[in-house]
Amino acid sequence: MIVDSHCHFHLLERPDSADAALAEAQAAGVEYFCNVAVAIEERERLLAFSERHPNVFTSIGVHPCGQGSDPSAQALAAMADHPQVIAIGETGLDYGNGQGDYGWQQDRFRRHVDAARLAGLPIIVHSRLAPADTVAILRETNAQDVGGVIHCFVEDAKTANALLALGFYLSLSGILTFRNAEALRETVTELPLERLLVETDCPYLAPVPHRGQENRPGWVSEVIECIARLKGLSPEDVAEQTANNFFHCFARAQARR
Ligand SMILES: [Zn+2]
Ligand SMILES: [Zn+2]
Repeated sequence: MIVDSHCHFHLLERPDSADAALAEAQAAGVEYFCNVAVAIEERERLLAFSERHPNVFTSIGVHPCGQGSDPSAQALAAMADHPQVIAIGETGLDYGNGQGDYGWQQDRFRRHVDAARLAGLPIIVHSRLAPADTVAILRETNAQDVGGVIHCFVEDAKTANALLALGFYLSLSGILTFRNAEALRETVTELPLERLLVETDCPYLAPVPHRGQENRPGWVSEVIECIARLKGLSPEDVAEQTANNFFHCFARAQARR
């Protein structure tokens, strides 16, 4: 079984692309998906897609760079009260846009951890160029109580170990296949397979050999094959273990399986 733990069907370029990409991914053997919110305004659309396709789960949250409304923890938790919603996020920190003062992102991140606690759901964490602050906020908020995943993991072994010690899963994307990702591949060789998830982050980050194209969930197999090569395992074993990990991480998905 293959699971794409993090994708954005609703952000594909053409409005009719989501159904086509889903059909194509299912034909390629991808059975379950988490379609991740980046803005609250997407909620109705995400839930409608998830209700039509019970194998597509949904999250609720505001991306660290997201515009639009920015609800309280209570409001976020209430919006996540739906059987297809399996997580709060994506939330976290993104220090990549050079604005300098990220206190507002940190507040938003903390609020999402509070929402996850209220909702009894894990969090999906986006962390870009902010490994130390991500770990610090997860520690300070006792986020190990809610658990979840660091999506698109690209950090070094030290950060990986800090996140694993907090009980978080690490999700690997197409970045792992990029030519310049040698350091990440070395780190992943040492990471425990029972704590890894795989994702596309579609429509972003198309893996080799599809770089430059709009990414699609069917291509998560490229990430799986790369992990298999690094660890000397079969792609089937990596697919099976990462799928099991997904359902361990997201209890509500397990209940709906
Ligand atoms: Zn992200
Ligand atoms: Zn994403």
